[in-house]
Amino acid sequence: MTPGHSNIGFHSLRVCSTGRGPATQPADKLKACMMADFDFSMDIEFLFPYINAVVKKAQLYDNPSYIRFGFDHTLCVLYPDRGLASPFDDTEDARDFMVRLMAFLNDMYHRKAQIAPRYKIFRQTAITQILKLLPQTNCNDCGFNTCMAFAAMLGRQQTLPGRCPHISRPVQEKAIFPVLDNNGKLLSTITLDIDNTQNVSDLDSAKQYIENLEKKNCAIIRHEKRSDG
Ligand code: SF4
Repeated sequence: MTPGHSNIGFHSLRVCSTGRGPATQPADKLKACMMADFDFSMDIEFLFPYINAVVKKAQLYDNPSYIRFGFDHTLCVLYPDRGLASPFDDTEDARDFMVRLMAFLNDMYHRKAQIAPRYKIFRQTAITQILKLLPQTNCNDCGFNTCMAFAAMLGRQQTLPGRCPHISRPVQEKAIFPVLDNNGKLLSTITLDIDNTQNVSDLDSAKQYIENLEKKNCAIIRHEKRSDG
């Protein structure tokens, strides 16, 4: 359901231990081990693509639909009609956070006309699968110390395959486009095959051209220095 002008609110806040508290720590050390569980006053699924667009490292899932993200140093998992958040010190801490979270969601709701929604669904790929694509030399050309570290980040979509110069080119690439209703709700998707071969080849040629220019430039500078000396 797409809301009218009502504000997003919550009710039935329940704050409970995440299980790391009473059994493992003395009472005076019960810090940040509580979790909040609450219900929304309206269906907020329509906001998920906007949160996905605005919040860095947000993860949008389908079947079931939910979004996972960090807000104000707190992990939030929001479903269309309810949410979970943690960690909190106590109920008061959780209540204060809920005020900030509702302000954030309502702000997003009122600004959504200015935000380009991001419908990308988060899919995690197993590290063991990604490692099969890598030479596993730990050469560091990608900026990661090991292929394992690179694979872990790639699996969570926090880096790009192209950062490893030793990975093979994909045999096929696809682009998935959203089909939306009049309210911007995702109805379905259409997948198109993309042929990037020419773009990649153009990019390689441009890179090669720049490298050659840089080499010539260095040679000229060396030559001039020798002449001056
Ligand atoms: S550049 Fe590729 S091969 Fe080298 S460490 Fe990174 S992932 Fe491994």
